Amino acid sequence: MLIDSHAHLDGSRFDNDREKIIQNFKEDGIELIVNPGADVATSVKAVSLAKKHKNIYAAVGVHPHEAKTMDENTIEILRELATNEKVVAIGEIGLDYHYDNSPREIQKKWFREQIKLAKELDLPIIIHDRDAHEDTYNILKEENDDRLRGIMHCYQSSLEMSQQFIDLGFYISLAGPVTFKNAKTPKEVAEGVPLDKLLIETDSPYLTPHPHRGKRNEPAYVRYVAGMIAELKGISYEEVAKKTAENAKKIFNIK
Ligand SMILES: [Zn+2]
Ligand SMILES: [Zn+2]
Repeated sequence: MLIDSHAHLDGSRFDNDREKIIQNFKEDGIELIVNPGADVATSVKAVSLAKKHKNIYAAVGVHPHEAKTMDENTIEILRELATNEKVVAIGEIGLDYHYDNSPREIQKKWFREQIKLAKELDLPIIIHDRDAHEDTYNILKEENDDRLRGIMHCYQSSLEMSQQFIDLGFYISLAGPVTFKNAKTPKEVAEGVPLDKLLIETDSPYLTPHPHRGKRNEPAYVRYVAGMIAELKGISYEEVAKKTAENAKKIFNIK
């Protein structure tokens, strides 16, 4: 059974068949998923989905795109939401210099504030880092202590840099791009990062893996990510499934 460590099943693109997809989890080989929030509204939705379904866990947080909407009150709302027992992380949070939907200084400020909240609550963080590897790493390094830990979601940086994140207590999570024919870097990462530091995810409804590229993504397709990692590492699919599920349970503290 697989764990999809990052799927936005709360999104409106699942409004017509969300319940059906969740009911099919077992049949599709999905043990559970973690549904992160991207702002207050989606964090609230993630928590209510998790409360309703045994095999869904939630993370609460504000994505760098929405950093400009944050204030102290937002942190209080996240703190309150995180008291729910199905909330297993703060996320997704981070920096996105590809779209720059929020000014970079504002992104950095609220990234840091949410890291502080996670440490205070002793929860891992789910990091979104798009074209901002250096600043992401520097902030994590400055905030590093025994409570700091988490996941580099849809990891896009180099194999070389992955070791620096691992040294700070982070897991590397691979998504659909590892299955793309021309994706050199994610394939190098899949080969080079030790299996006990890898997680798998879909980031549904985005980043649909080959051979469904172009369609809406869904948690069942995480099997293509697992399959490609197995192929690149020259190990069995079952081993990838088992170990990435163990890793996910460990970092999210899911029993
Ligand atoms: Zn993301
Ligand atoms: Zn995401």
